[in-house]
Amino acid sequence: MAVMKAIRKTVSGPGLELCEVKVPKIQKDQVLIKIEVAAICGTDLHIYNWDKWSAARIKPAVTVGHEFAGRIVKLGEDVTHLEEGMLVTAEGHIICGQCYYCRTGQGHICDDVKIIGVDINGIFAEYAAIDAENVWVLPDDSDPALGAIHDPLGNAVHAANVHKLTGQNVIITGCGPIGLFCIALAKQAGARRIFASDINDYRLEIARKLGADYAINAQTEDLCKVVKEVTKIGADVLLEMSGSHQAFVNALKALRKGAKASLLGIFSEHVSLDLDAAIFNQLTLCGINGRRMFDTWYEMQAALESLEIQPVITHKFKFEEYEKAMALMNSGQCGKVLLVP
Ligand SMILES: [Zn+2]
Ligand SMILES: [Zn+2]
Repeated sequence: MAVMKAIRKTVSGPGLELCEVKVPKIQKDQVLIKIEVAAICGTDLHIYNWDKWSAARIKPAVTVGHEFAGRIVKLGEDVTHLEEGMLVTAEGHIICGQCYYCRTGQGHICDDVKIIGVDINGIFAEYAAIDAENVWVLPDDSDPALGAIHDPLGNAVHAANVHKLTGQNVIITGCGPIGLFCIALAKQAGARRIFASDINDYRLEIARKLGADYAINAQTEDLCKVVKEVTKIGADVLLEMSGSHQAFVNALKALRKGAKASLLGIFSEHVSLDLDAAIFNQLTLCGINGRRMFDTWYEMQAALESLEIQPVITHKFKFEEYEKAMALMNSGQCGKVLLVP
């Protein structure tokens, strides 16, 4: 029986383990993928650190990771629309196909979603068995590193495309990889001005490279004040990617009446909002979950033809160095971090 390396959560507690496991067997409707590049998501870091969410959700032992690019090496017998050798990535949410949301074209908010690398074995491994339905074919000559970041880029595309950005003053709070992608997308869409905020100078530097007109360190500068000074009436759109109570509340104050916001950052604490202000200012607050299947993926494919996001990818480690990669992620001195088998 062929074996492979895989990075797994083997016990309920902090840390991960590099293991040798069997190469997975594929079902009729799956393909076997040889992983070329994986990327570490905030979710993987939560699982590594074993926070409250992970402790409640993860049932060890499970192989983690869901962001990847790789080549198909074997097809299940029912798979007819894919071929061996194709460079692919995949939507990480496995949907039930039966619930109200799935049946009305809203599978991204499926009632019974299973997530690759969370609820079922993931892709921090040399090989992964993936449902053919979830596979997304990449252009054959594309950079596998860019292929590996489709999941978070899709989050950004979903959040950014809900509102018109062309000609608008756009605030992006939080310059982690998804916030950084949002900056590039706002730039590409022809936003009038882009105000990005974070408390991490390393990431603010990348924000500038990607086209933020104002990269604001919220510890030393007041985003609301800067936005009001420049725009007079306030910004038109907010893309909230930080999950920071303080950043969100301050950014809301920097919006003009009738402004629109996409909310994607997860708040670890309870947020208290001045809802009367939202009502009288006629704000639209839109929650964003996952990627629309597969509308967002086609939008992403189109965006990638001219999107400049290479600066977001800052580090690359071997599987054996996963501890180093996780420590770097915890330090925040990085953009997107890749792992290669
Ligand atoms: Zn992810
Ligand atoms: Zn469903």
